[in-house]
Amino acid sequence: IVRYQGVTKSFGDVQVLKGIDLEMMPGEKVAVIGPSGSGKTTMGRMLMTLEEPTEGTIELDGELLWHMRVKDRLVRADEKHLHRMRGHVGMVFQHFNLFPHMNVLRNVTEAPRKVLGLSKEEAEERAVSMLGKVGLADKLKMYPSHLSGGQKQRVAIARALVMKPKVMVFDEVTSALDPELVGEVLEVIREIAEEGEMAMMLITHEMDFAKEIADRVIFGADGRIVEQGTPEEIFENPQSERLQSFLQRFR
Ligand code: ATP
Repeated sequence: IVRYQGVTKSFGDVQVLKGIDLEMMPGEKVAVIGPSGSGKTTMGRMLMTLEEPTEGTIELDGELLWHMRVKDRLVRADEKHLHRMRGHVGMVFQHFNLFPHMNVLRNVTEAPRKVLGLSKEEAEERAVSMLGKVGLADKLKMYPSHLSGGQKQRVAIARALVMKPKVMVFDEVTSALDPELVGEVLEVIREIAEEGEMAMMLITHEMDFAKEIADRVIFGADGRIVEQGTPEEIFENPQSERLQSFLQRFR
């Protein structure tokens, strides 16, 4: 469902991704771990259409994300293409990014109405069902400023899910939460993962969670994928010295 081929990214003179090749299968849950600054977020933001690769291509469901073919030539995708592709990717960020001036229900209905063109009733029906799923059925009329961090993040998850994306990207979604609120958010993600149908990329510092949820774990360092494998291979039998020393920190 997702394929990165030879993807690099430079910010000015600094190359933060140095050639990423990565495939995700439909329904596959991939955890991305690695030291701070290794390029995990940048990799995720490219799939979210928020950061353009410097070189290489990314495919989503058989279509190029950042490029279009014009007369056998690859050209940069236009806004219309990016906008359409963005609709297939569910995004959840570290800092929630809710609309502060909209209540919970409107936060979740806005995109289905504006992007999918659903009627108010259809959008609300979907939204209420998703908000129920994340345990917020009784908070529809609340504004984000009155919610806890964990509740805000669950609204953000419902807002992404309501679009029925082909792939979800969770970018360090528990990093900004107080420790006691992390569990409720992970529990919601665990439930979504168990439903199984959607591919998920989980960029995370929660090693236990990665171990439990992921079908495959990617360890990135210095802009490259250093090692990848099943959670057992990565956590119980790390091959590279880089990964061994990285994991030491979590013991
Ligand atoms: P962390 O775990 O700390 O979030 P990460 O592995 O997700 O780190 P990235 O956020 O992808 O790493 O950042 C990789 C590098 O790219 C960092 O050195 C960062 O400073 C740099 N970087 C990211 N975005 C930009 C930008 N827009 N402009 C310049 N440099 C950037």
